[in-house]
Amino acid sequence: RRVLFPCVTTLYQEPIVVSDAEGVWVRDTDGAEYLDFFAGILTTSVGHCNPDVVSAVRKQIGRLGHTSTLYITENQLQVAEQLGRISPGELSSCYFTNSGSEAVETAIMLAQQYTGQHEVIALRHSYSGRTALAATLTAQSAWRPKAGGIAHVRHAMVPYPYRTPGNLSEEALADLFAHDLEEVIRTTTNGKPAAFFAETIQGVGGVVVPPAGYFQRAAAIIRKYGGLFICDEVQPGFGRTGDHWFAIEHWDVEPDIMVMAKGMANGFPVGATITRPEIAEAWQAKTISTFGGNPVSMAAAHATMTVMEREHVPARAAARGAQLKAGLFKLYDKHAWIGEVRGKGLMQGIELVKDRDSKVPAPDRVKALLEATKKEGLLVGVGGMHGQTIRIGPSLLITEAEMNEALTRLANACDRV
Ligand code: PMP
Repeated sequence: RRVLFPCVTTLYQEPIVVSDAEGVWVRDTDGAEYLDFFAGILTTSVGHCNPDVVSAVRKQIGRLGHTSTLYITENQLQVAEQLGRISPGELSSCYFTNSGSEAVETAIMLAQQYTGQHEVIALRHSYSGRTALAATLTAQSAWRPKAGGIAHVRHAMVPYPYRTPGNLSEEALADLFAHDLEEVIRTTTNGKPAAFFAETIQGVGGVVVPPAGYFQRAAAIIRKYGGLFICDEVQPGFGRTGDHWFAIEHWDVEPDIMVMAKGMANGFPVGATITRPEIAEAWQAKTISTFGGNPVSMAAAHATMTVMEREHVPARAAARGAQLKAGLFKLYDKHAWIGEVRGKGLMQGIELVKDRDSKVPAPDRVKALLEATKKEGLLVGVGGMHGQTIRIGPSLLITEAEMNEALTRLANACDRV
């Protein structure tokens, strides 16, 4: 509190001071050991201190530690080629930065330059980062600065089936949310937006999965008005949601621009924005990122993605995700205060409510469960507008036995509350 901004938020009444980690295990300075079910916010994608990543970083740091984007490194080109290989459709042209926020900024600036238009529609409940523009795209008041911000962002209805009144079918829900997006364009912009920007599955918003058909309709709508479809894969990307490399592929939509960060380099600072070459060409202004594409971060990204490809993480996440979901549904059957279990692959959440009829969000129960998981030696995350959702997103290499152990600890913690 003396040396850091008071706004630096930590979890738990007494924060955990982490000192060592390996795979899915984390130790604190008091020697307590935790099974990490949240992976530093879905980021240590191939496990803490993955030996391949550590060795690549060690080698690189003794050889070349910095260049700036004024120079090319082989690592950077290798990572760009890897990204192009696993990204949907024609996405192949990359710009590297140091964080998700910067990747988001790059995407929006690019869409504006490509379309010559400036307004952007994002989704309510979203989280997009901590830079001025990313915080303006973010649509949770708790995460927005209390003064300032950048204008020209409008927010459409969040595609959040659980919190949408009525008993609508998936198709009717997709229609409702897509209709709202079009209404927002028609009523709150000049009718010529640069982009529609959306997390494919909201993370901080509480693992919100849109209904089938929504993204197809949303992409068609934004294109009808001359804008681009940008999807934020910072949390769900890199195989985490199972079966595919990127979550948007579940809905068979090709975005115009995609942003990535977090799990891409297993915890090293990397953000990436990828697009089609013809869109990338629209960026005519000079631009530079001193640390973007740093050789050490790129070595980490290259090693991380090589492990991911070798280990077939989309298939692994599907298998471990099915195990996780089955375990969470057992908890749902036992505890009437679990309102919904949702997510895909290894990105899952449980939303806690007062009771299933009223669906009143229960953030206090989340706090109690968080403290109980700490006692059980399990790290989980929190999300949702009210802090009513427990978020789970472990390493993509978590084993079957580790998953069982984590589920046992979570079940014990649920019993405690
Ligand atoms: N987009 C999403 C979906 C995120 O969850 C985050 C970070 N939680 C960001 C962007 C911003 O990333 P960073 O914190 O690396 O700037």
